[in-house]
Amino acid sequence: MKREICQICSNDIEPYCDYIYDDRYGYPKNYSLLKCKSCGHVVVAPKMTHNEIATLYTEYYPRNEMPAEMNTKSIFASKYKIYLEGKKTLCHYSIPSKSCCLDIGCGFGESLLYLKHKKCDVYGVEADENVLKMAEKYDLDVKIGLFEPADYSDQKFDYVTMSQVLEHMLNPIETVKGIHDILKPGGQLIFSVPNSQSLMAKLFKRKWINWHIPYHQQHFTKDSILVLAHKCGFEVESIKIITPTSWIIYQINHLLYYPSQGKVSVFWSYSYNNNLCSKLILTTTGIIDRLKLMAPIARLLDLFKLGESYVVMFRKQ
Ligand SMILES: [Zn+2]
Repeated sequence: MKREICQICSNDIEPYCDYIYDDRYGYPKNYSLLKCKSCGHVVVAPKMTHNEIATLYTEYYPRNEMPAEMNTKSIFASKYKIYLEGKKTLCHYSIPSKSCCLDIGCGFGESLLYLKHKKCDVYGVEADENVLKMAEKYDLDVKIGLFEPADYSDQKFDYVTMSQVLEHMLNPIETVKGIHDILKPGGQLIFSVPNSQSLMAKLFKRKWINWHIPYHQQHFTKDSILVLAHKCGFEVESIKIITPTSWIIYQINHLLYYPSQGKVSVFWSYSYNNNLCSKLILTTTGIIDRLKLMAPIARLLDLFKLGESYVVMFRKQ
């Protein structure tokens, strides 16, 4: 039998969790998690094919049901609000004005709009063509499709950003090497990924919100991030831990509405018919979220390095 090795550091991997499934959008298959004995990186087994991934996103991921309008007020939030809400996990908030940058997985383009206002020369890539309407409305330069370094052969960037994107990739090393190729010397890659060693991951085990199986294929640790940098020709400038404050409320709702295999979660669905009790709970947790009552907990988790997301800066050597 072929020895299974870690995608990041090439050491041995071992079973970590034997039964886990899509607990948001009802994709019917179940999976296991495998963990590297050396760097702690966790991957999903069995591996998915590109075709399966395409089906997963087009048939199960409800982007076309999400509100297709940007909340411009929230994009231009004050520094205090960004801190309170843990919004620095959105990597564009770390980019200085007048830079040339690319945001991979730019979604509806909030990052591009923000950076345009900072007089940056800014480009986006997004796999989902539903975002085109927004790109046209706000005159944003978005390429629909997957990130291909060859598309930028005549262009070099000061910054490349990926906010909660790398964990979706089948081959993160290939992606990060590709980013290295399109950065200027000394250019920076800034990315955020969930912290698979967070307190909530430890407490809630397979019901942790950020396993998000099988959409998330990679689950990083500080050690696997260090190896990733080294293998792809980057030096690590910083690794911070920041918790988006809303994620704590999302985790509570995630537990309250945890679905069985193959079923859509009432909380994550955008088009559910819920009963009065559900409406009451979702309204109450929604108010707690809007008032940012969980902010002290989120900031404490970050202080003790137990929070939910890494925010990483790599510099091209
Ligand atoms: Zn490893």
